[in-house]
Amino acid sequence: MYNQKEFMSDLEMRNIGEPEFIQAVSEVLESVIDVVNNDPEYLDARILERITEPDRVFMFKVEWENDDAEVQVNKGYRVQFNNSIGPYKGGLRFHPSVTLGTLKFLGFEQIFKNSLTTLPMGGGKGGSDFNPKGKSDTEIMRFCRSFMTELQKYIGPETDVPAGDIGVGSREIGYMYGQYKRLRGENTGVLTGKGRNWGGSLIRPEATGFGAIYFADEVVKAHNDSLKDKLLSVSGFGNVAWGACIKATELGAKVITISGPDGYIHDKDGISTQEKWDYMLELRASNNDVVKPYAEKFGVPFFEGKKPWEVKVDIAVPCAFQNELNEDDADALIKSGVKYIIETSNMGCTTEAVNKFIAGKIPFGPGKAANAGGVAVSGLEMSQNSMKYSWASEDVDDKLGRIMKDIHSACVTEGTQSDGYINYVKGANIAGFRKVADAMLDLGY
Ligand code: GLU
Repeated sequence: MYNQKEFMSDLEMRNIGEPEFIQAVSEVLESVIDVVNNDPEYLDARILERITEPDRVFMFKVEWENDDAEVQVNKGYRVQFNNSIGPYKGGLRFHPSVTLGTLKFLGFEQIFKNSLTTLPMGGGKGGSDFNPKGKSDTEIMRFCRSFMTELQKYIGPETDVPAGDIGVGSREIGYMYGQYKRLRGENTGVLTGKGRNWGGSLIRPEATGFGAIYFADEVVKAHNDSLKDKLLSVSGFGNVAWGACIKATELGAKVITISGPDGYIHDKDGISTQEKWDYMLELRASNNDVVKPYAEKFGVPFFEGKKPWEVKVDIAVPCAFQNELNEDDADALIKSGVKYIIETSNMGCTTEAVNKFIAGKIPFGPGKAANAGGVAVSGLEMSQNSMKYSWASEDVDDKLGRIMKDIHSACVTEGTQSDGYINYVKGANIAGFRKVADAMLDLGY
């Protein structure tokens, strides 16, 4: 039998200085401990020790030259966490905050998220402490080229398939894929999130945001409610927030905030026109990492240094960064009457915030379920690449919708409490965990 406290203190000793990884494991453990302790096969196979240790980690140096011909050095990583149900799959994050611990937390979350998609994908994550802010396009290209020169040794379409994450969009994927092809001479599905003209899947750019709103739609329906006329606060202004604004509008809801590291904007009319969506893409492509220009362009208020969780809405949709919504933010949202939380960033809420929502019986969709649409369409991109074929956008969107529906059902099956409250955190963790743990049993050690 596992003792939860002992297991965690042992894990902390073995993973010093990795608080986000400890937080991610602790949250999963809380959900699955009884499942494991009641299954002699899981206990005998020491599933918990094995699932919390990455298969392997690559750490490497990335040397590149800036526009002033000065040599720059960054750290590069790829964490191959678990490939029991399929090739390692997960994004690359370029952000100055990236450490090994960050990528271990993200890789660990990815195992269960990918399992929930119903597609055969294992969990991995990678990235660099490279800061794209203020970099020129050629600097980004030189960095990506150098990063891939090393990374290509460890990845492959049947072994490990990276994609984008924060700081890595189709531009960066393009430069990396270009270098992979230069070095290997292959056209393969080694990366996903590719451009539509060179092997990418339609709907991949929209997929994470669309998927989150499909998930939200399922959550409200399960509570005899609808998205029609609901007010949403969204954080972030990148690819995920963009997709969420588009799909929310399509389903009759209104997104009234987006945010950046500089603050948030409050657009009462809704971020609901093509012009506003296109402007979000422009903001992202500028590499400035600020949202204030939106307020100036559309004449709406900007709140410097503030988070959007102080605005009264029906649904809060964090789409930016881990731990971006804390206990105080949760209190503010609960006080102003929030009805649902759709966590779309990976581990976007602190443990304390999640516990508050659950204690308040507010339906809370965790990131690993709500944001799984992105990697799900990456899985569909892999399928299309293997077939040397491409599906129409309606086909991909339709498959995405069905996957999000299935993820929601899995959460309901595993997470419904005796009082009828659907604990989506527990549901997602147990459903995601079972499939991987059972595969590990089947495969031996
Ligand atoms: N970075 C995304 C995530 O957190 C997408 C990963 C992928 O498409 O492989 O799931």
